[in-house]
Amino acid sequence: MSGLCAPYPWLTKPEDIGAIVSEETCDIVVIGAGIAGCTAAEAASGAGASVIVCEKFASSSAHGIDIGAVGTKVQKAMGVEIDKALAARLIYEWGQQQANYWLIRTYVEKSGEVLDYYIDMAHRYGMEVTLNDEMTARADWDALEDKFKQFQSAHIFDITDKSPFQKGKWNARYFVDMVVDSAKRQGASFRFKTKAERLVNEGNAVTGVIVSDAEGYKKINARKGVILATGGITDNKQMIGRWCPAVLRCDKFENFPVGSNNGDGLLLGVWAGAAVTRCNPAPIIHPVNFSSLGPGISTSWLTVNRDGRRFSSEMAYEPIVTNARLNAPGNVAYAIWDDDYKKHLVKQEPVKSKKLLGGLDDKMERDIASGDYVKAATLAELAEKIGVPAETLQKTVDRYNGWCDSGIDADFGVPARFLSPVRKRPFYASKMNAWLLSLPHGLHVDQNSQVLTEDDDPIGGLFAVGNVQGDFFANSYPVTLPGSSHGRSICFGHLVGRALAEGTTIGGYGD
Ligand SMILES: Cc1cc2nc3c(=O)[nH]c(=O)nc-3n(C[C@H](O)[C@H](O)[C@H](O)COP(=O)(O)OP(=O)(O)OC[C@H]3O[C@@H](n4cnc5c(N)ncnc54)[C@H](O)[C@@H]3O)c2cc1C
Repeated sequence: MSGLCAPYPWLTKPEDIGAIVSEETCDIVVIGAGIAGCTAAEAASGAGASVIVCEKFASSSAHGIDIGAVGTKVQKAMGVEIDKALAARLIYEWGQQQANYWLIRTYVEKSGEVLDYYIDMAHRYGMEVTLNDEMTARADWDALEDKFKQFQSAHIFDITDKSPFQKGKWNARYFVDMVVDSAKRQGASFRFKTKAERLVNEGNAVTGVIVSDAEGYKKINARKGVILATGGITDNKQMIGRWCPAVLRCDKFENFPVGSNNGDGLLLGVWAGAAVTRCNPAPIIHPVNFSSLGPGISTSWLTVNRDGRRFSSEMAYEPIVTNARLNAPGNVAYAIWDDDYKKHLVKQEPVKSKKLLGGLDDKMERDIASGDYVKAATLAELAEKIGVPAETLQKTVDRYNGWCDSGIDADFGVPARFLSPVRKRPFYASKMNAWLLSLPHGLHVDQNSQVLTEDDDPIGGLFAVGNVQGDFFANSYPVTLPGSSHGRSICFGHLVGRALAEGTTIGGYGD
């Protein structure tokens, strides 16, 4: 890395740390108690390994709802069949072929059997597992053209009154609580407020970790291996500046706890001789808040920049609008729709519109009162209220309405079903915000998720799972298989944890 380190001093290993106050040995050390690390610990301890999980904060991390997988018993029971080869190829193509196809294919091929293991576990914990068919997981989008295709891969783990877990905002929390409980019962030791500071190298292998806690620096030797599961670089502005500066233009940064995703695992790996993935990062960005119509995430409306001009496809396919928004002049954009929005909504979403229409009038009133949505009697008035030139906006609307009438969007190729003309007064607008959820970016790995050097040689005993696993996403987060951020974290966490415990490899697809 030497040449690359010059402008980025943090890529250079700092001076050695202080005295070690204690030393112990186990089979496997997992660094980070997020969804990937906890799953790895559960699988490894279930396969008989002694496991220590080091987590720098006081508890495990969990956020979000959807858990992606392909070919689970829940999907089979609902008659959902996903073309695996097509799904893998589409994810690969979303990354402009930068990522490792075999990693993606392994996820698509193996995530079903992995999640089935946790679905069975969830049932034992009195939980329910269903398929999501909302927002980024629509039931009938698998019939769209390839670039907008979405398969019904998002599972929701929910508690019932028979489950031992507390009700909370994020369903992924129930999953993490469940695997932590199971891992602990199997003997895994969770060390909270324990931060990994360095990996221990012996030759070209990693044999342990130096951690810090309230008592000082401690060495933990790992007989079988170390699994990095420290998340991505979402909270580290220097790393974002280095690898993905456009996301600094996001309106809101949603990751929590703040500081959990500082790119620690990426640095631990680099300091131990690992290479950073060569893929461009694929930020996970939500277009806007979840208020009534959810422009860009639930629904597609004409979207204009501050000059009143259209600038991208408005398909409610998560990264599409936000990627373009981040390059919009003035870093601002507005979705615009007319008073026929209910009619448009039924056309856009024939399967789920009934659900979307429920209580919509009230929600719209609330969003207008709160200032989230702007309402105006004329287009000129709307233009004035949102600060875009009225004449240009009128021209843009006329051109767009023409595409709506012909059913062919010759500018951005939005399918006819999602083209919604702006004609009937009053008119509405909503700011098209960009909220960064996660910025996965990590280490170069092979198809077994083993960490590699710049020369593509495996580093003995070192694996990366979750958002510190590079080479899976590239350029743009694909919502072809919704929930694949959690899904690949669980899939590789489980496969790597079990394989390391058993002294094998994960047996990736194509091996
Ligand atoms: C609000 C929100 C909603 C989301 N919704 C979804 C969704 O519905 N579906 C989906 O698929 N994805 C979703 N995501 C993304 C998804 O949650 C992440 O991609 C996922 O959490 C990644 O898991 P991870 O285990 O790799 O990292 P994390 O969950 O971030 O866990 C990493 C852990 O490692 C710890 N750690 C870091 N450095 C060290 C160190 N040096 N020593 C010890 N511990 C360390 C951190 O404190 C943290 O606990 C959402 C994200 C957010 C923020």
